[in-house]
Amino acid sequence: MAHTKADVLIIGGGVIGISCAYYLSLQGVKATVIDKSEPGLGCSYGNAGWITPCFALPLPLPGMLIKSLKWLADPMSPLHIQPKPSLLLFRWMFRFLRSMNWKTAHRSIQALTEISKFSLSEYSRMSQEFGTDFGFSQKGLLLVGLTSEGVQAAAQEQELVGNYGIPGTRLDEAQVKELEPALTGPLTGGVYFPNEAHCEPLAFVRSLAQKAKENGVEIVSGAEVFDFEVGSRKIHSVRTTRGSFYADQFVLATGSWSNAIARTLKIRVPVLGGKGYALIVKPFDPKPQIPLMLIEKKIAVTPRKDSVRLAGTLELVNLDFSINPKRVDSIIAGSQLCMNVPKELEVLELWRGLRPCTPDGVPVIGYSSHFSNLILATGHQMLGLQSAPGTGKLVADLVTRVQPQFDPAPFCAERF
Ligand SMILES: Cc1cc2nc3c(=O)[nH]c(=O)nc-3n(C[C@H](O)[C@H](O)[C@H](O)COP(=O)(O)OP(=O)(O)OC[C@H]3O[C@@H](n4cnc5c(N)ncnc54)[C@H](O)[C@@H]3O)c2cc1C
Repeated sequence: MAHTKADVLIIGGGVIGISCAYYLSLQGVKATVIDKSEPGLGCSYGNAGWITPCFALPLPLPGMLIKSLKWLADPMSPLHIQPKPSLLLFRWMFRFLRSMNWKTAHRSIQALTEISKFSLSEYSRMSQEFGTDFGFSQKGLLLVGLTSEGVQAAAQEQELVGNYGIPGTRLDEAQVKELEPALTGPLTGGVYFPNEAHCEPLAFVRSLAQKAKENGVEIVSGAEVFDFEVGSRKIHSVRTTRGSFYADQFVLATGSWSNAIARTLKIRVPVLGGKGYALIVKPFDPKPQIPLMLIEKKIAVTPRKDSVRLAGTLELVNLDFSINPKRVDSIIAGSQLCMNVPKELEVLELWRGLRPCTPDGVPVIGYSSHFSNLILATGHQMLGLQSAPGTGKLVADLVTRVQPQFDPAPFCAERF
């Protein structure tokens, strides 16, 4: 079965693919999104929901190496690398280590804060204009340290992002507990970023998809891409389980599946999965009121209407969705250190997702040098939600050849 030809065909209906469709529709482009499942059921389903420009430090930050090596030796730590050697893992690690320098880090922080700040203002606009409730709330973000090293790390983060216009305030233990009475354990202090926001990630994808459809975007679920029909330096169509789709331009927005799909096109997209877990738990008493990051344990706590979301861990894997009970337990144990989380915690839902991680910690957004009509929009690691509107806008600007909202250079698809 062949479908009507679109101006732009977007492969992947996560928060990134749907954002691309929405911004393309605003710029008058006829877009179709296809997804092997349903929009929003990949990594965009159950993430922590944070829209936090202060969270703009790339993974390969100088100084991370020693900390990472210590973490790798501890099964309850927030970081793990699946011990399955592969060419992808080897190449990824090599580029990761090469990116661990301050010149690259500053360039990345500038790019990530810029795209995140634009996105935050867009979330605020959309929450007022869409008429749907996707749980947008701007209560700030509190980074909390158990130890002075933890608070020091938060203060370093505050200083680095402060240079790019993101305000934060350092707090002592008493001030932290006054701001968030749900914090009960022995703490050293923290940093509060007042402008940060959060929302319900799946509800957002669905609201945006609805708005995109109203603007003329077609969304096709259950269409799994398994091959491409290509000519010289051009893609003609994609073959899916629901027939072939033709378009003038194609956007690859398939998150952690991007490396595998790109290989079908004989191109390399260095994206590894960074597995994380999120537990939706019954509210405990006192219930947190503002999003919290437990620094040492790297646990994200997000208040929800009738529950609390606890999220964390990063396991570098290649498309492995297995559940590691030790990692799940480490999130519960870490949360119990500083909040009144009961021993017999009632977990309403356990979810895991693969963050699409690039070696330098910056997403890939731009034209491929291999195919003149292919744009890559992937590799958003732990920032996909918070940078999705900016990504969609940049893709729409590139397609319509207008002056891009951001400098596209740091996101260039061919930088590796
Ligand atoms: C525990 C955890 C917490 C997180 N917290 C946050 C947070 O607070 N804030 C934040 O900004 N980010 C957070 N993230 C990261 C964020 O979830 C991701 O960066 C984001 O969801 C990536 O979006 P995406 O659209 O690129 O990928 P996805 O949402 O995974 O979408 C990719 C889509 O491609 C489709 N697809 C794959 N293969 C094919 C194929 N062959 N054919 C057709 N379709 C295909 C999939 O079905 C999927 O729907 C978190 C991640 C985790 C795991």
